[in-house]
Amino acid sequence: MRNILLLLEHKQNRNLLSQLLQQVGYEVIYPSPDDDLSNLHNSFDLCILGPVALDKFSDWVKATKKAEEPVFLPFLFITSRSDVKMITRGLWKTIDELITNPIEKVELQVRIEALLQRRELSLKLKDANEHLHNLNELKSRFISVASHEFRNPLHVILAYAQILYRGGEKLNSEKKKEFFTRIKSSAKKMNDTLDDVLILTKGELTLQKLNLQFLNLQEFCRLLVAEIKVGSAANQEINFTIQGQSKKAYFDENLLRHILTNLLTNAIKYSPLGTKVDFDLIFQDTNIIFEIKDAGIGIPLKDQSSLFESFRRASNVGKIPGTGLGLAIVKQSVDLHGGTIEVDSEVGIGTTFTVILPLIKGVDENS
Ligand code: ATP
Ligand code: MG
Repeated sequence: MRNILLLLEHKQNRNLLSQLLQQVGYEVIYPSPDDDLSNLHNSFDLCILGPVALDKFSDWVKATKKAEEPVFLPFLFITSRSDVKMITRGLWKTIDELITNPIEKVELQVRIEALLQRRELSLKLKDANEHLHNLNELKSRFISVASHEFRNPLHVILAYAQILYRGGEKLNSEKKKEFFTRIKSSAKKMNDTLDDVLILTKGELTLQKLNLQFLNLQEFCRLLVAEIKVGSAANQEINFTIQGQSKKAYFDENLLRHILTNLLTNAIKYSPLGTKVDFDLIFQDTNIIFEIKDAGIGIPLKDQSSLFESFRRASNVGKIPGTGLGLAIVKQSVDLHGGTIEVDSEVGIGTTFTVILPLIKGVDENS
């Protein structure tokens, strides 16, 4: 980040200055006379220019400065002493500093360094601003999700608590039990959502915490599918198939559970009743592929790239509940396993998520 562009009319001056600057460690670039200056955009951190160049390129200087905003792009003007009075009027709109001929080496270097430092500070400020902006956006998404996802279960809890409080004696024990169960499951829902938030924000998903175990994937997936079927109210069909030679392999059971549960429950949640979900487990020599395919509402193309960020949901979810955290956890879990995840989806047709995880110390096993 120490490239200096020289726009000086006299070749001799230019060569002298160029040498001097290179001696103290800067990269020097200068265009040949017929070069298009617009190509130089983004290639230098400071420009040193003389009166002829300033005259000729003043529009370019202004436009280039403007284009880099809010990052500061300094222009240092070299002039002879007699020019100084004449040019100071209005000139500061275009240039940031001037130095008079004959040039003092040390003075030049001090001015250059001061300008470059200003540039560096402005770059840091821009990064910090962007970071703040991202945090702010995350915060708004969190608030909007929290107000949706917490309000419903909270209403349920409040309503049933009120019924139990007011007319508790008149209710038979079966009704009471039902109301308590509803309160409990609503509280559990809120708790699960908070767990997801904490997993993502407290750095629960780290390599140090990876707990690799020797896992029989086939069995693991079979049980998981059965669990999800029982848990889903719709009792939708999951068509589970296995391809290739089954192998045992090292996986973090918890992470794998997060990955597959999220993808399978999404496939069910975002599909109409009566459609099937295909779940393929494919064994390859060095990889395991999990493919989850549904014939559901699909994901608009414009939303596909941001789905793996926290609190992101597609624009076509309508009234289907969700926090937008599931896939963020899936993505981090897949990354931790050194794998990849891809989505292929078309609105109204369906969605396929493909997860590829490398086999860690896979051992052949006849199942
Ligand atoms: P959560 O999983 O936290 O309860 P969620 O399901 O909304 O909430 P993610 O699992 O992260 O969140 O999914 C993000 C978004 O991706 C969803 O809101 C939905 O818009 C879209 N999506 C994910 N899977 C599918 C799918 N199989 N079909 C259609 N849309 C999907
Ligand atoms: Mg989900």
